Amino acid sequence: MAETHSYDIFILGLKDASAQGRHRFAATIETLTGRSATDFDDNFPSGILPMFEALDTERAQKIVDTLSDAGIMIEVRPIDAPPVEELVDVDPHTRSCPACNQRQPAEAVECGKCGVVFAKYEREQLLKMQQDHNLEQAMINAAQVREEWVQRAQKYLETHKLEKDATVEFSTILMNDEVPFLRLDSDEGPLLLTSRRIISENDGKFESIPYEMIDEVEYGGGRLATSKKAKQRLQLNFHSPFPTSGGQVIKNIAWHLDKESSFSKEVVFEWGYARNFICGSCGVRELEYRTDGDKVHMRCMHCATDHEINMKEGVAVPALAE
Ligand SMILES: [Zn+2]
Ligand SMILES: [Zn+2]
Repeated sequence: MAETHSYDIFILGLKDASAQGRHRFAATIETLTGRSATDFDDNFPSGILPMFEALDTERAQKIVDTLSDAGIMIEVRPIDAPPVEELVDVDPHTRSCPACNQRQPAEAVECGKCGVVFAKYEREQLLKMQQDHNLEQAMINAAQVREEWVQRAQKYLETHKLEKDATVEFSTILMNDEVPFLRLDSDEGPLLLTSRRIISENDGKFESIPYEMIDEVEYGGGRLATSKKAKQRLQLNFHSPFPTSGGQVIKNIAWHLDKESSFSKEVVFEWGYARNFICGSCGVRELEYRTDGDKVHMRCMHCATDHEINMKEGVAVPALAE
């Protein structure tokens, strides 16, 4: 009877991580797949991608035994799909191209059909997978913190009503999981404070400013304040220059609030100072910010993990070491 389940096998690590242990691993993989041991002497496979996919029970068992005997720590994940027959019956001295699936000799370094260089292609795929994985993790961590701020925004709304048309300019940029709670009006266009960020609108252009990017909130002062007496000047200074949607990089941004909006300045103080990114790797808040082109990065001073900040999501995504 045909099997309806199959197994993926992930490589987690080596019991013996010395050069000798690593070579034993590479040699074992060579025996199992026919791929050159030198591939694996240099690059240890990531635990994120399965080393073997969609195996039937018998072949999975055989591979598990062989890997375990060689001191390789693995994880076996049952998959709710039938085994891929092709993988069972193919000549063990061939491999398939990861891009076009063409079978070819196992020792080939590039595809005879589409020309991709296997090692390079696989490394690129892996980097992409890891980046997606890091974003997903950052979102999971952020979701826990976010809930707290959603509640805080809702609490604010219990005592301060937000007019129905207050968010109308922002309808294309607001996300389902954020709660807008305060609108401010200024000469430079409206501002919307949400549970996640401050959004400004000017001529149909938006800036999405996570509270975590704010280093300082300043009110009043300066030459502009005297020339526009009735207006209160609000300025946000950033941890690192902020890349705008118009392609500029600015150290701070200012608005001239109308009188009614200026009454809410305490709220901007409160939210602007309450939040800071934390290191996605070790959890500390000692961070060094820098702006590279249109991306803001932050490096953890404690564990050196670099992060890229996603302004729309308001999350810091651990970036990969080059
Ligand atoms: Zn190919
Ligand atoms: Zn850290």
